Amino acid sequence: GADRTKNVLILMSDTGGGHRASAEAIRDAFRIEFGDEYKVFVKDLFTEHAGWPLNDMERSYKFMVKHVQLWRMAFHGTSPRWIHNIYLAAIASLHTKKVEAGLKKYKPDIIISVHPLMQHIPLWVLQWQNLQKRVVFVTIITDLNTCHPTWFHSDVNRCYCPSEEVAKRAALVGLQPSQIHVSGLPIRPSFCRAILVKDELRKELEMDADLPAVLLMGGGEGMGPVKKTAKALGESLFDKENGKPIGQLVVICGRNKTLSATLSEIPWKIPVKIMGFVTQMEKYMGACDCIITKAGPGTIAEALIRGLPIILNDFIPGQEVGNVPYVVDNGAGVFSKSSKQTASLVASWFGPESDVLKKMSENALKLAQPDAVFDIVRDIHELAEQRGPLSQMTHCLTSSFFQSRNNS
Ligand code: UDP
Repeated sequence: GADRTKNVLILMSDTGGGHRASAEAIRDAFRIEFGDEYKVFVKDLFTEHAGWPLNDMERSYKFMVKHVQLWRMAFHGTSPRWIHNIYLAAIASLHTKKVEAGLKKYKPDIIISVHPLMQHIPLWVLQWQNLQKRVVFVTIITDLNTCHPTWFHSDVNRCYCPSEEVAKRAALVGLQPSQIHVSGLPIRPSFCRAILVKDELRKELEMDADLPAVLLMGGGEGMGPVKKTAKALGESLFDKENGKPIGQLVVICGRNKTLSATLSEIPWKIPVKIMGFVTQMEKYMGACDCIITKAGPGTIAEALIRGLPIILNDFIPGQEVGNVPYVVDNGAGVFSKSSKQTASLVASWFGPESDVLKKMSENALKLAQPDAVFDIVRDIHELAEQRGPLSQMTHCLTSSFFQSRNNS
């Protein structure tokens, strides 16, 4: 295979920021490691090629997250194998043709799924079209601990698990040890490899040079009790006796425009920076001393790489629950649902309890896996190489298959 560019198709869905972030991390790592050897397409295949309900996934996800009870039901309601298999079979039969069109368009040598619902249908189509031996199919799980069973499919060539806990679950549902690879969550190379100096970052981001800083966010959509927590921090980080701030606050609202607009109208007593969706997260994390966030896997993994102690203030029921003990049990942070408690905790970390903050920062760095994304693409490359001669031959077969489909 080195003489021919291989096509990689990454399947994701824009539910939250995490899946896209992981997909783009993999794409960038392929480019850095292998240059022109691979051509990587990141596709929300179901939005582009399938009809309702799959193209509605993002909208219904946002809706369900807002209606937590409904989401909880959907998550657990589809959990038993027999239910989700029938459910997925029904969807698959409706949408196979459109998934086929996606495969035809991108002619992938390698398919990477970073989404819990993108194993069954593509694998089913591959099998149906007799392409399963010719296309490498891998899953990269983007939940740190408790993950939905639809992530696991016994027909994958590899299942990349971000933690030992997830690997155990993979083994429990019957994946073979050779299919399971524990790697860590793939984080954008620009994030992992950035060499950052806090003082310089603060200058660049126009932050106070000396005050300790707390970063407050809620995933790509700016979810969770961000507003309440920001207000509480505005009080707790202001020393009334001396009339001086003891810390500064950075709020990243993501795509939540209402949130950033509301926060901008508040008269703050401490230095506060309110941002919308930022593209250089590594800089904001590098400029701060701790983070408050909902239990999103992407944000957690990134904070660990930057050595930021984490206060988790919320989680999406179902898939994010397990991220909480992952952080807390490893001593890299705490869970606190009360905004007041969160705010006074930060104040104590920025005051008398600074040694606790330091210890947690060390624990965070121990847990961090900045090389995960490179580990994963190298392993996928090896899988593809093992198929080298076969895949060259099959490429012809595949294109003639696609051509004959075109003509019919
Ligand atoms: N993110 C970003 N800019 C923002 C807000 C979030 O780049 O303004 C990124 C963040 O760095 C992380 C991802 O979006 O990589 C959020 O993923 P996570 O798994 O934490 O939560 P989700 O949004 O998927 O629920």
